[in-house]
Amino acid sequence: MSREILIATTNSGKAAELTVMLGALDVDVRWLTLAHFPDVPEVPEDGQSFAENARKKACGYAAATGLWTLADDSGLVIDALGGDPGVRSARFSGPVKKPDTRQLLDHRNMAKVLSLMENVPDEKRTACFVCNICLASPDRVLAEAEGSLPGRITHRESGTNGFGYDPIFFLPGRNCTVAELTAQQKNAVSHRGAALANLRPLLISVLHAGPEVP
Ligand code: IMP
Repeated sequence: MSREILIATTNSGKAAELTVMLGALDVDVRWLTLAHFPDVPEVPEDGQSFAENARKKACGYAAATGLWTLADDSGLVIDALGGDPGVRSARFSGPVKKPDTRQLLDHRNMAKVLSLMENVPDEKRTACFVCNICLASPDRVLAEAEGSLPGRITHRESGTNGFGYDPIFFLPGRNCTVAELTAQQKNAVSHRGAALANLRPLLISVLHAGPEVP
């Protein structure tokens, strides 16, 4: 029988990318989402690193649901801003105000980055998307992996695909922003895709570990 694994993210952009990529992993898993568990309380993301937050979310939702749970934490690390927005990427421009859509929040976050970097010259606009993924059972961490995508911060938004900071993240090798890639092209190069590729052999090995893994 297939193993059920919960994908624990409340971010619809990330959930969409993760579901497509996990579906393509070719493993014997039935993937569930938090939509199946509307009453589970949100696990706070108050760690100091992406790895710590991914672990907190995976362990927290696994304990709350009794299911193996996969969680990621990701964000944008900008060299000229000393690593900011980092673990604060989702709320860099302040807390979410209720009528806000995710798109408005993304615009505000990008506007803050562009304004902080107004006087930063092109050669110093280096940045990286980072993604840490953790798979946990209700009582322990089963596997962890990381992926990253290097690039540069543009001077203005360009492109409408993707989510978050994609419109201001330029890929020199592709000569476009991540928001100008198709979903398939993004998944092939993204930090989330790289983290999942690194996780895959570990996932296969825990799936085959047998009944001693709860
Ligand atoms: P969290 O992992 O849900 O805490 O959110 C991470 C935040 O980092 C997102 O809300 C985005 O602002 C940003 N982020 C993470 N991954 C991406 C990506 O693939 N593209 C653009 N922004 C991203």
